[in-house]
Amino acid sequence: MNQQLPPLPWHGGCQCGAVRYKISAMPLTLYACHCTQCQKQSASAHGLSMWVEKSAFAITGPLKTWSRKADSGNTLHCHFCGNCGSRLWHEAEEPDADLGAVISLKAGSLDIAGWLVPVAHIWTGSKQAGTIIPEGRFYCEGEPPDDQLLLDAWRKWQSS
Ligand SMILES: [Zn+2]
Ligand SMILES: [Zn+2]
Repeated sequence: MNQQLPPLPWHGGCQCGAVRYKISAMPLTLYACHCTQCQKQSASAHGLSMWVEKSAFAITGPLKTWSRKADSGNTLHCHFCGNCGSRLWHEAEEPDADLGAVISLKAGSLDIAGWLVPVAHIWTGSKQAGTIIPEGRFYCEGEPPDDQLLLDAWRKWQSS
């Protein structure tokens, strides 16, 4: 087990503190997405997505939801604090055929976030000029050809 990983459960929430959540199982992966949607979503350089099994994710507080159609045709529900507007997690309407019900947490919302290492970078074809992809990391210019690559990269980092 990677020494940087804090012990579970992990806690996090929005900027104003009205929405709080708890994660009670090890996530499946953590990656940076440099697509233009994630740049808008984060109003920053990239999105930081941590996949967590829905059954291991508990949340309280005044949520709001904005939904959009993803390129895949699936509807993506994007949840955020109704008070301060921090984006907290995304969830596809149709669960993944292989992974089941998984949420994509915006990982910068974790209370303890200093240890976070994105193990992969996707959509680097649209990354901002100032963003440098660390050498040796898995990356791809668009959508990864197989989600398994993201899971494998996490597993490898987790056991390092
Ligand atoms: Zn808030
Ligand atoms: Zn993205």
